[in-house]
Amino acid sequence: MEVERVSTGCEPLDTLLNGGVEKGVISNFYGESGSGKTNVCIQVAAEVAENGGKVAYIDSEASFSPERFIQIASEDALDNIFLKDVTDFDQQDETIEGLENLVEDKGIDLVVVDSLVSLYRLKVNGDNAQEVNQELSQQLSTLSGLARNYNLPVMITNQVYTSFDEDDIELVGRDVPKYWSKCLVKLSQTDKDVRKARIAKHRSLPEGKEVRFKITDEGLVKDSAGGLF
Ligand code: ATP
Ligand code: MG
Repeated sequence: MEVERVSTGCEPLDTLLNGGVEKGVISNFYGESGSGKTNVCIQVAAEVAENGGKVAYIDSEASFSPERFIQIASEDALDNIFLKDVTDFDQQDETIEGLENLVEDKGIDLVVVDSLVSLYRLKVNGDNAQEVNQELSQQLSTLSGLARNYNLPVMITNQVYTSFDEDDIELVGRDVPKYWSKCLVKLSQTDKDVRKARIAKHRSLPEGKEVRFKITDEGLVKDSAGGLF
């Protein structure tokens, strides 16, 4: 069966992902602070909402900005965003568990969790790691089931940290989000307003494929100076 995709509203990202974010699975956009994770979430949410689709948007860092949204989309489109701010990991649990009702009631076309792991990171410590990892796993399992059962794209974002032994960045939550995400895209900053997106893991796309895009007032656009690849 052909995999259905939802346009990201950003031409280079659509090129990278062969049309957009896949329905039925979790796509994970990860990278350092300022790499563009929230910008990507707002861009895709704007694209879906502008076309009449409904978006469940879970915000754990109070980073969704209605002003930023209406720079990209119309004010009417904002009515299609069901925004839920969460302030601790247990509230994030409850919100994710409650998503199915929202999907049933409103006919949600896209789920966004930005970020999945910031409240996890606040809760986890040396003594409770196993239990909190289990909680994170459960949230991802629920999101994955929702994606599959309702044929929805689910987008999550993931912070990173520097791992000294591997001389590279590592995802907060490590293997747990990696396991559940069928598409992993690494974002990084290459210039003041230019970002790079690179496939780190995908079921049907080659690892290492990358594009550049520019952050502008109107949204995420092709970086004409740097070319596509
Ligand atoms: P964090 O991990 O801190 O949440 P993030 O990966 O979500 O970071 P974003 O918030 O998406 O990062 O990106 C912030 C960057 O986007 C900042 O460097 C900011 O300068 C840039 N930016 C935001 N709006 C614009 C704009 N209109 N034009 C150019 N750059 C912009
Ligand atoms: Mg952010």
